[in-house]
Amino acid sequence: MTRITADVRFLRGYNQALVLGVGRTARCFERSTVVQATGLTPQAVSKVIARLGADGLIRPTGARRPGVGKPAIVYELVPDSRYAIGAHVARRTLRLVLVDLAGTVRRSAVSPLPGDFTPPHLLDALRSGIDTMIGSTDVRNRLTGVGIGMIGPLDHAHGLVRGAHGLRHWHDVPLREIAEKHLDLPVHLDKDVTAGITAEAWRHGATFGDAALIMIESGIGGGLWLGGAAHRGAHTNAGEFGHTVVDLDGPRCVCGRHGCLEIVHRHATEAGDLARAARVVAVGVVNLLQTLDLAHVVLAGADLLRHPETYLAAVTEAVQADARRVDWLRTRVSLSGLGADAIAAGAAMQVLDQHYGIPELAQT
Ligand SMILES: [Zn+2]
Repeated sequence: MTRITADVRFLRGYNQALVLGVGRTARCFERSTVVQATGLTPQAVSKVIARLGADGLIRPTGARRPGVGKPAIVYELVPDSRYAIGAHVARRTLRLVLVDLAGTVRRSAVSPLPGDFTPPHLLDALRSGIDTMIGSTDVRNRLTGVGIGMIGPLDHAHGLVRGAHGLRHWHDVPLREIAEKHLDLPVHLDKDVTAGITAEAWRHGATFGDAALIMIESGIGGGLWLGGAAHRGAHTNAGEFGHTVVDLDGPRCVCGRHGCLEIVHRHATEAGDLARAARVVAVGVVNLLQTLDLAHVVLAGADLLRHPETYLAAVTEAVQADARRVDWLRTRVSLSGLGADAIAAGAAMQVLDQHYGIPELAQT
């Protein structure tokens, strides 16, 4: 009995996610558009449309009169019917965004965090930042939750920050739980780069293939999108791209190993050798491509965005020269279209996915 209920609920959520997906990509749609795009039956689509309309997530905008037969009702997504807050916690800054149901960043703000900040520091900054961002109670009533994209290593499944490199007060901190209590809102906690790659997947839609988002900030990480979903790995700690070794005899890294990409890159930037810093990242990206065979590589992060063209050129060149020796292997390298908001926006989209996305993907 329980199983049947669960399956029915799954199907309902699944169909709803498909219709909302069409609403996000097409400005206006009819029942027949959804039938064509999803393969659902007209009856099933009618049911979902009625339910989404009753919840205020979509609305009719008019009617199209075909030559023959009854007029067809045209619908659109109601972007401001639901919102989510996204937070990007970096070592020195907290960036917050307000994202609507269509995935558009409506507001964005960045504030400094104290050096070596503690969990209470972050919770207070989150609460005051969110209060300022929301403003009216009208928006608060439509808020589905808060997504936090945080520095790893991090246990997404249990909502624990396991031991953020370079932050002394962040060992086994149950951030998801304490943030839910402090903010009185549902909280989704994920690694910063996994949130970032989710934002890219939303932006690109169904055409997005296997991909990585390479983020260069005070640390370096790589979020992975594999087989149509964010890839978190066996312990939900995938993405520690900065701690893959590129120089066996290199300098000691914060993680304890020698010659990690992150520390070799940092030494190059500190020496003012930007070309070498970009090449170090490019070598890492080529290693990743050889392992995973990706269709897209997206570059992001505050430090990268100071010299976006240098990094883009170095990675593009390395991918063409080193990774692709045959003409049927092609990888597109690009800068994140969301700029500095990429991680925070992705964290907010993860919250919207949890409520309105495909159920089995949203749970992971
Ligand atoms: Zn390391």
